[in-house]
Amino acid sequence: MRLQDKVCIITGAGSGIGRGTAFLFAEHGAKLVLVDRDLDGLTATQAQLPAGVSALAVRADVSKAADIERVVENALREHGRIDVVFNNAGIMPHGDLLDFAEQTWDEVMAVNVKGMFLMCKAVIPAMLVQGGGSIINTSSVMATLTEPGYEAYTASKAAVIGLTKAIAVSYAEKNIRCNAICPGWVDTPMNLHLLEEMGEEQLKALIKRQQPTGRMATTREVAYCVLFLASDESSGVTGSALYVDGAASAAI
Ligand code: NAP
Repeated sequence: MRLQDKVCIITGAGSGIGRGTAFLFAEHGAKLVLVDRDLDGLTATQAQLPAGVSALAVRADVSKAADIERVVENALREHGRIDVVFNNAGIMPHGDLLDFAEQTWDEVMAVNVKGMFLMCKAVIPAMLVQGGGSIINTSSVMATLTEPGYEAYTASKAAVIGLTKAIAVSYAEKNIRCNAICPGWVDTPMNLHLLEEMGEEQLKALIKRQQPTGRMATTREVAYCVLFLASDESSGVTGSALYVDGAASAAI
């Protein structure tokens, strides 16, 4: 029960890493505020939680300030405090730079970076009043290692690390911690399009080449890292980026 009665907002909770983290946080006694733009996904996450778990579901687009303010208002009305925020919602459009639409670039930055800024701006006032909190932002191993066609995604995930460090420094004295996780390959719907584009054999070979463990991480393996950063066990850790990448960033 490492998060007993802690109020935790999780964005992107309708799928993948966000959903896996919601399940693990629930096992550790958290009161959940689940956020996603995909209502069906949110409802499915809620439905799979054990009976008795406190889980408020709020449909919201993290790139819209009014939506984020509504999430925070709902959380505070229901629970009166917010202890943890897992800023995890993200998108990964890719394609040749020369054909990459300006609008798609703006969308990647709005969801992957501005969404985190908006959430931090909305929750930090409550964290200041209550005397602390923990914010975890999902970056990626692709913040520093990349491949052709991922300019927008890579730039956005590098920005997440910069944002994380800046917030950590600004609010360290106020007991508000801010850390990033950098997953490598994780088994989630985000990678399904690659399965369709490349086929199973080629995708497996690519993962083996890039991630020395030779397999994708599970959402639960990522969730345990988020749990550590969310819990008081990591009270000395802020401004850091934790790699959950099966040694991808260590390999040549
Ligand atoms: P996922 O299964 O696609 O889940 C992401 C969820 O976020 C989806 O439900 C998605 O809804 C939602 N979302 C997207 N844009 C949103 C918005 N503007 N407002 C609210 N919700 C929004 O992907 P995942 O793999 O769990 O990814 C979670 C995070 O991990 C992302 O930040 C991703 O970049 C990062 N990451 C993933 C991997 C990996 O290998 N899977 C590796 C490194 C980092 P829609 O379905 O409607 O888009």
